Amino acid sequence: MNPLRRRELTYVKGIGPERAKLLERQLGMRSARDLLYHFPTGYVDRSTFYSIRELEPDVAQVQVKGRFVSFNVLGEGAKTRLCGLFTDGTATLEVTWFKSIKYLRQTLHTGTDYVLFGKPTSFNGRLQMTHPEVDTLDKAVSQQGMRGVYPLTDGLRQRNISSRSFHDWTTGLLAGLTRIAETLPESVISYAGLDSLDTALRQIHAPTSPAALQRARLRLKFEELFYIQVDMLRRSRRRKAMSDGFRMPSVGATFNSFYSTCLPFPLTGAQKRVVKEIRADLLSGRQMNRLVQGDVGSGKTVVALMSMLLAVDNGFQACMMAPTEILAGQHYESLRALAAPVGVNVRLLTGSTRRKEREEIHAMLASGELHILVGTHAVLEDPVKFRNLGLAVIDEQHRFGVAQRARLWAKNTTPPHVLVMTATPIPRTLAMTVYGDLDVSVIDELPPGRKPVMTLLRYDAQRQQVYRGIGRQLAEGRQVYIVYPLIDENEKLDMRSLNEDYDYICDTFSNYRVAFVHGRLKPAEKDHQMELFASGQAQILVATTVIEVGVNVPNATTMVIENAERFGLSQLHQLRGRVGRGADQSYCILMSKYKIAKETRERLQLMTRTTDGFEIAEADMRMRGPGDIEGTMQSGMPFELHIANPATDGQIIELARRAAEHLLDADPELTAPANAAFAAELREAVARSADWSRIS
Ligand code: ADP
Ligand code: MG
Repeated sequence: MNPLRRRELTYVKGIGPERAKLLERQLGMRSARDLLYHFPTGYVDRSTFYSIRELEPDVAQVQVKGRFVSFNVLGEGAKTRLCGLFTDGTATLEVTWFKSIKYLRQTLHTGTDYVLFGKPTSFNGRLQMTHPEVDTLDKAVSQQGMRGVYPLTDGLRQRNISSRSFHDWTTGLLAGLTRIAETLPESVISYAGLDSLDTALRQIHAPTSPAALQRARLRLKFEELFYIQVDMLRRSRRRKAMSDGFRMPSVGATFNSFYSTCLPFPLTGAQKRVVKEIRADLLSGRQMNRLVQGDVGSGKTVVALMSMLLAVDNGFQACMMAPTEILAGQHYESLRALAAPVGVNVRLLTGSTRRKEREEIHAMLASGELHILVGTHAVLEDPVKFRNLGLAVIDEQHRFGVAQRARLWAKNTTPPHVLVMTATPIPRTLAMTVYGDLDVSVIDELPPGRKPVMTLLRYDAQRQQVYRGIGRQLAEGRQVYIVYPLIDENEKLDMRSLNEDYDYICDTFSNYRVAFVHGRLKPAEKDHQMELFASGQAQILVATTVIEVGVNVPNATTMVIENAERFGLSQLHQLRGRVGRGADQSYCILMSKYKIAKETRERLQLMTRTTDGFEIAEADMRMRGPGDIEGTMQSGMPFELHIANPATDGQIIELARRAAEHLLDADPELTAPANAAFAAELREAVARSADWSRIS
C-alpha cells in the first residue's frame, strides 16, 4: 500500500483527531495522500505588497505590510468586535474581527511588523478589511510566491477551516517528506515526458512559476486519465483474448427473408458496413461490446433490428432498451411492423405494463417463445428471466456506464453481446474515456434524398412572420412541432412556457388540432397525445424537450424552438433531428430574445450553418465545457476525476491512451516488478470505483 495512504490525517501537523474526523465527514478524506490530492482550484499572488494608499475597495485579495497602532473592543454580547487600526505610513486601514477576539487580543501587538492578506472594502469612505489573514513579517516573507486557494465546504468554514489551513497543512506535510514515492512506471514517465510525482505534488500546492504549475497539472491530469485508459484497454484486450461469447454462425431464414422481402429501402453504404462489423463480432465467439454512433436519422434502428434477427436465427433472444417509455414505445411499434412479417415475436415491457401482461411476457421469455423484448431500462431491474438472451441493444444511451453494462451480465452466465447505440455525437477523446472499452462503429452517412434541415434564427419581433410560415406548412398538409423550455409560466424566469402559450396557439391556428406533451403528463395521457400527432389527427404538437429523443413523424417538417438561447447546442441538435425525416424540405426556427450575449448568438448562428452533429458537439464542448455530456461522465466514468476534464483535456487523453498501449504491449498483465507499484495503485482505484458504482 502507498505509504501516504497509511499515514493518518490525525498525525499531520495542525490537524489532530477532531479535524481529521471533520475532514473525513466533509471531504471523505482519510489519509495524508487524500490531503495532498485535494488540489487548489486557483492561486493568489503573495509576492506583491500593496501600499494602503493605492488600495481600491472591492478588488481581489491583496496583501499589505505595516503595524497596528491601536486595538479596541467595541459593541457587546453577540455584536462584540475587535477593531484594529493598521498603517504602513501611506494611509490607515480599519481591521475588524467578529470571532476569536480574546485570542487575537492576546497574540497581536502594536509595534510589531505584520502582513495582512484580505479583501479591502469601504465603509463610510473608510477603507476596511474584515478577518484578514495575519502573519508576522518574517513568516510572510518566507512564504512568498503563489499560494493555493483550496475548495471548502460550508461545514469546514463553520469550524474556522480556511483555504489557509489547507495551505499550512500541506506545506507542513510536504516539508516533512523527503521524497514522495512514484506511482507511475518509469517507462511511462519517460514515454510521456512527465514530471515525477514528487515534483508535481510540490508544485501544485506551491508553484514556483506558471510553467512549473503547468507541468504539475499535466502530470496529475495524465495520471487520472491514464488509470482509466489502462483499465479500459486491459478490459477490452482481456475480453478479446477470451472466447466466451455466444457464437452466432448462421445467417438464417429470418434475416434473409427480412433482407430480401421486408426491408423497406436499400441500406446505405454505412449501414451495410456496420451490419458487417456486427456480424463479424457475432461470429467471433467473443463477446461483442460495440458502440454504434450515428447522427439522428442515420438509420440505427434497422441496423439494431438486423443484428437482433441474426441472434434470433441462431436460436437466441434479443432485447432492446431505450431511456424513456415514449421511445421504447416507438421502437416497439417500428420493430414489430418490420419484424412481424418474418414471424418474429416482439413485445414491449415498461414500468407501466400491466401485471397480467407482464406475467404473460415473463412466461413467454422463459419458454423462449418471445424473440425480441423492447423496453425501458426497467428491464434491467425487473425480475425478467430470458431463456437465452444473446444480444442486448441499448439505444440513445448516454447514461449507461461500465457498471450498468456489467449488470446485463447478471442476466446470463455467458454475457450477451452488447450493442450500444448513440445519436449524441460524442467527440472522439471523450468517447475514449467513457466508452474506452467498446469497439466503435460509425454510421456516417444519411439515407439518400434527405434535404438538410434549413435552420433560421428569428427574434421575438418576427413572431408573426414565423406564424405565417407555420400557417403555410400546415396548409400544405405538413405537421409542426413547437418546443418550450418550460411547462408553466414562472415569473422568475423570462421564458415562454407551454401552458401559457397553448391557448394562443390554438386560437392562432384555429383550423387545426393541437396536441401537447410534457414530462408531467401521466404516461397514458402522454401516449395518447403523441399518438394524436403521430397519426396525423393533430397537426401541431406543443411540447417540452421530452420529444428530444427518437420520436419519428416524417410528415412533421417544421420545428419552432422557443427561447432557443436557453438550450445547449447538442440539445438543439437532438431536437432538430425530429424534423427532416421525410423527403420534404424541413425547417427549424430558433426563436430567441434579441438581447443575448455574443457567445449565445454565435452558438445559435452555428446551428444555422451546420447540421453536422460532430461539429456541433465539438463546438458545444469548447464553448460550454462538457455541459450535457456531464451526465455521461458522471455515470459513465469508471473513476472519479478531480483535476482532469475530458472536455478540455483531449490531448492528454490521447497521450494517456498511447502510453497505456505502450505499457500493456510490453506487460499485458502488469506483472513486471517495475510496474508493481503502479499495478497496486490501479487495483486500489478499481476497487474504490467498484464501491462507488454500487452506492450510486
Ligand atoms: P436514428 O439513427 O435516428 O435512430 P432511425 O433508425 O429512426 O434513425 O431512422 C430514421 C428514418 O430513416 C426512419 O424513418 C427510417 O425508416 C429511415 N431509414 C433508415 N434507413 C434508411 C435507408 N437506408 N434509406 C431510407 N430511409 C431509411
Ligand atoms: Mg433512434
